Order: sequence, then structure tokens, then C-alpha cells
Amino acid sequence: MKFISTRGSGPVNLDSALRKGIASDGGLYLPTQLPTFGLDDFENASDIGSVAGVLLRPYFEGSDLASEMQQILAETYSFPIPATPIQSADSKLSMLELYHGPTAAFKDVGAGFLAACLSRLEGDVDAPLTILVATSGDTGGAVAAAFDQRPGMRVAVLFPDGRVSKRQEHQLCCWSDNVISLKVQGAFDDCQALVKAAMADPKLSSTHRFSSANSINIGRLLPQSTYYADASLRHFRRTGNKPGFIIPTGNLGNGFACVMARAMGLPIGPIVLATNSNRTIADYFETNEWAPRESLQTLASAMDVGNPSNMERLREWGGDAKDLRAQLAVTSVSDEQIKAAIKQDFTEFGFATCPHTATATHAWRQLDPEVRQQDWILVATAHPAKFETIVEPLIGEPVPLPAGLADILSRPASAISIQPDLTSLAAALTDN
Ligand SMILES: *Cc1c(COP(=O)(O)O)cnc(C)c1O
Repeated sequence: MKFISTRGSGPVNLDSALRKGIASDGGLYLPTQLPTFGLDDFENASDIGSVAGVLLRPYFEGSDLASEMQQILAETYSFPIPATPIQSADSKLSMLELYHGPTAAFKDVGAGFLAACLSRLEGDVDAPLTILVATSGDTGGAVAAAFDQRPGMRVAVLFPDGRVSKRQEHQLCCWSDNVISLKVQGAFDDCQALVKAAMADPKLSSTHRFSSANSINIGRLLPQSTYYADASLRHFRRTGNKPGFIIPTGNLGNGFACVMARAMGLPIGPIVLATNSNRTIADYFETNEWAPRESLQTLASAMDVGNPSNMERLREWGGDAKDLRAQLAVTSVSDEQIKAAIKQDFTEFGFATCPHTATATHAWRQLDPEVRQQDWILVATAHPAKFETIVEPLIGEPVPLPAGLADILSRPASAISIQPDLTSLAAALTDN
């Protein structure tokens, strides 16, 4: 399989696409041709790891990793990813629980796959590869967990001091010696600018062998298509109906992965993207005008994206707004609606949802009654216990910690404080 940039450069094989992350022309990698599958192809695939084995095999053709694919997938799918029917609602409604990984958000799957691949391609105990990641919360934790204790690999996580939740901060700072947690005296934008500046600095980058684990890396996208494949196959086998998916959306990686799965022939019905009040995608669908803007802060903070980068992939592939409207719907959900949905989910469904997941449950309730009665799978992108300061006051009771999260929060945590400049970053990387 070859991959080509949305801006034309390439083609390259999987290994180069994984190593580079972003193409040299600034574009994002897409497969030159999507493999397609029939239901028979998955006849013997009884769990998500084996579904992934069928779905992802063509992408490994021509890769040095081909012979290690099974082991890579075993490392990636090391926790359950169930679609649980919602009993109290219509029996045709399920919740796809993507939060059973080490850091209790869906990013664990993509980060785990990328770590399993990159450590095999680039791991070197004598001169470790250093993954630089700027984070506003969830990404850094998932990347740190995925690379923790991998020989020949280091991670430097940069986060803005005082701007991530307490539990998120703990998840960024509780790893082994190969993860360096850097508390930057600045905002998220400063962290991002520092990563860019470090990677562009010839001396620093040759000393430390920098790489990024950015969400636009094709290695984070590909494995995400497997949870839509697995959930839709299970649902279709059980009911004979193609389920629709409603997906909390920020940078559009998860939503695009679902679009890919449907295009590969999986039994997937309508796809609805639920965003928070960052309306860039919703406005584009309405007006046909692509107008990226500054992001707004919302309760669903992991979706606070004003310039969703995967839109470049979707537009390359799916056409303009008119074409896209035929394939996808978009609902923008305000903070007030998120709060109301968290309350209603708790009383109606009997469980708490996180603020991101609540955009999907709100979007589902907004559907025309007739459409709402069809088969839907709502996507739960994080565990509510990660956002307990928002969720608990709304439902009026504590959200129990899942075991994995409790384990992480019980570990000792520490971070190095740095100024938002290259000299401080360089010193921290050299001394630690
Ligand atoms: C990252 C994230 C999202 C947004 O996913 P995208 O792939 O960027 O659209 C939604 N919910 C949670 C909890 C996240 O961490």
C-alpha cells in the first residue's frame, strides 16, 4: 500500500508515512486506494484484534513491519472496546465504550498503535528517538502511556501550567524515566510553538532525534477505523441492520476513521459528527465556506479545535460541502446543552457521560423521532471520571474511578517547570 499527501507529494510506504507524520509539502497522508471488504472476509474474526488483522493487513503491504503486524495489533488492542446496548432506551441504541484503555480516553488506541510501530522502526537504545508532544490534556497522557518503558524511545510532554485538570496533570506526570513531563509557564499555544521551534532547530534535533506523535499521523488514524468495523459487524450480525454512528468531534480524526471504515465496505449507516460550540465544521456544511478560526473554550475541552486538521483529508476525499452533506451530518452542541445532556443521560440511561460524549447523546435526542428509532451507536470518547469536576455537580453524586485510572492516580507524579523558550527546553532535555 502506498500513501500520498493531500497536497500531492509521495507516494511513500507505511513506514515513511509513520516516520514523517506530516508530508514534506505540509499535507496529510492518505492511502492511494482504499481496500474494500465484504462480510465474508470477517467470518473468522471474532474479536477486535482479529477484525483489525483483516482490515489493516493491506496497509502493511510493502512495510518492514508486515511480519510483525500480529504482535503490533496484540499490543494495541490490549483492553476491551465493547458496544453496550442501552437498556433503558430503545433497544436499538448502544454506546461504544472507547474509554477502557490506560488513560480512559479513546486516544489510547491510536497512540498505542503508533508507539508499537515507531518503536520497531526507530527505537535505538544508544540514541533514543525523542517524541515531542504538546498537549492541552488527553493527547499527552495517551502518548506518554503508550511509549512508557519502551526501549530506545523517549517522550517529552509539554503542558501549560495550571490549564489542565488535576487528574489530567497526574496522567501527564506519573511515568518512567523515559517520559519527561514539562510544565510550561505559558499557554497551550506556547507549548505548541516550542515543539515546532525545537523540531526546526538543526542542532537540537540532531542531538535528540526528534519526532512527533501528532494526531494527524496516519498511524493514529488507521487503527481507529477498526472500532467502527468491529462494532458495526457485531451489530449487523445480531440485527441485520446497519447502525449509524454519532461521534464527538474535534480535530476530526475519529470521525474520519468512521468514514474510512464505511468506504471500505463495512455495514455502517448514517454518520453524524457532534461538535461543541466550535462551529467551523458545522458552518462549512451550511455555507460551503471553509473558515478556520481561533478555538473557543468549552466544557468538552478535548474538542476545542477551531481549525480541524483532518478536514483536509475529508475534503480531498469527500468533495465540497454539498457532496459531504450527502455523506455526513454535523450538529454543534453548546455548553448549556452539554450540561443538560449529562443530567438527562444519568436519569434516562442510568449512567454518567463525560462532556464530550454528551455532545453525541444530545445530537441523538435532536434527531427526528422516526430517524431516532433506527439503529444508532453513540460513541463514548472518555470516561466521566476524568472530568469529575464537571460531571459530579450535575448528577449530584460521585463518579466511581475505573481501576486503570485509579492505578495511574495512585502513582507518584512529578514535573519539571520550564520557561516557554528554547533554551529552557534544551536544558531540560539534556539534563534528564
Ligand atoms: C480528542 C478527543 C475528542 C476529539 O476527537 P478528534 O479525533 O480530534 O475529533 C473527543 N473526545 C475526547 C475525550 C477526546 O480526547
